[in-house]
Amino acid sequence: MDLLEYQGKQLFAKHGLEVSPGKAVTTVPDAIAAANEIGYPVVVKAQVLIGGRGKAGGVKLAANEAQAQEHAENILGMDIRGHTVRTLWIEHASDIATEYYASVLLDRQEKQPLVIFSVEGGVEIEQVAAQSPEKLIRRHVDALKGLSRREAVEIATEGGADEDVIEGVADALTALYEVWTQEDAVLAEINPLIVTPEREVKALDAKVTLDGNALYRHPENQGLSDSENEDPIERRAREQGVQYVALDGDIGILGNGAGLVMSTLDVVAQAGGRPANFLDAGGGSDAGKVKQAVELILANDAVKAVLFNIFGGITRCDEVARGLIAAFAEIEPQVPFVVRLDGTNDEQGRALLREAALPNVYAAKTMNEAAEQVVALAAGRSAENAAAGGGMGAGS
Ligand code: GDP
Ligand code: MN
Repeated sequence: MDLLEYQGKQLFAKHGLEVSPGKAVTTVPDAIAAANEIGYPVVVKAQVLIGGRGKAGGVKLAANEAQAQEHAENILGMDIRGHTVRTLWIEHASDIATEYYASVLLDRQEKQPLVIFSVEGGVEIEQVAAQSPEKLIRRHVDALKGLSRREAVEIATEGGADEDVIEGVADALTALYEVWTQEDAVLAEINPLIVTPEREVKALDAKVTLDGNALYRHPENQGLSDSENEDPIERRAREQGVQYVALDGDIGILGNGAGLVMSTLDVVAQAGGRPANFLDAGGGSDAGKVKQAVELILANDAVKAVLFNIFGGITRCDEVARGLIAAFAEIEPQVPFVVRLDGTNDEQGRALLREAALPNVYAAKTMNEAAEQVVALAAGRSAENAAAGGGMGAGS
């Protein structure tokens, strides 16, 4: 779960990492009021889940009320690479002497936390890694022992931090590591970590990703998700307790079991199609569940055809077919559905579908055949053409 900058900064502050005081607002009048209250100069910052806001014009300094108003008007509603700005963070502007970079993340290969520090902050860290990798200090941490004071000081020193701020940088690294472990973060990044002319070290930006699977341990963090910017169908699915992930293709996918859904995505991609979503119906087969799933898939206007891939184990295919028939009596989908039923009672299931003669529903026996049919249908060709086309599904 990605956090907005100001939410990340709340967690930083909680763990003793220095940040500037500020306020989150959603309207221009509130932005002006906040700026007046905080005191000029202020910085007006777009709150979106994407980096490079500064370059895109989403971070602006304001010396007075007129400028604060101008920037708030310009930035609210701005589109930053597909992310609409709905929230602004107004904070007291800092004077910057130097910009550093610091992050803590999980190195999956080494199975250890990794602390990264660089004195080349403010720019994209990938650029530093590519052009001057020697300016990037990477240090693994023993997860059981945590980051010791000595290690934090070593990282700051080896990284080339100015001598008079070694302790300050070590404090920041220690606090950042604490955020990462105690909040169950996957990533905690500060870019830039600044040194002020008064030689104070503080976080000017925050990028924090929390582990969604550990959220149950942090009830106080559960409200932090950027639900306004979340895909509305994903949000609806989450509220209904359905596993749904939005993708950007045009073929709706539904299967029972995450493994089957994943292989369905692969088979559809191999057949030349682009999945529009990932939807795991789990063990559910009753009409209510099927209807819910079909409605979620069809809520996405981009969907041109749907592949229903059911492997009957405990879930019986005849039950699924009945669920589908009942659901279709209520929904009347406007796009073609390819239904592949295999496993327990699959023949009965297919027979039920045939008898029901649902318009726009095609029954398939194998996964490859189903994938080729759905790809053809999404492209506006007929399903029969696909099956006879001599591809992977032919003859199976
Ligand atoms: P990003 O572009 O999305 O990474 O947003 P940042 O929060 O990192 O801001 C971009 C840049 O704006 C920073 O690297 C700073 O150079 C500048 N900036 C942000 N806040 C301040 C501030 O309080 N004072 C000054 N002088 N510059 C700031
Ligand atoms: Mn930044």
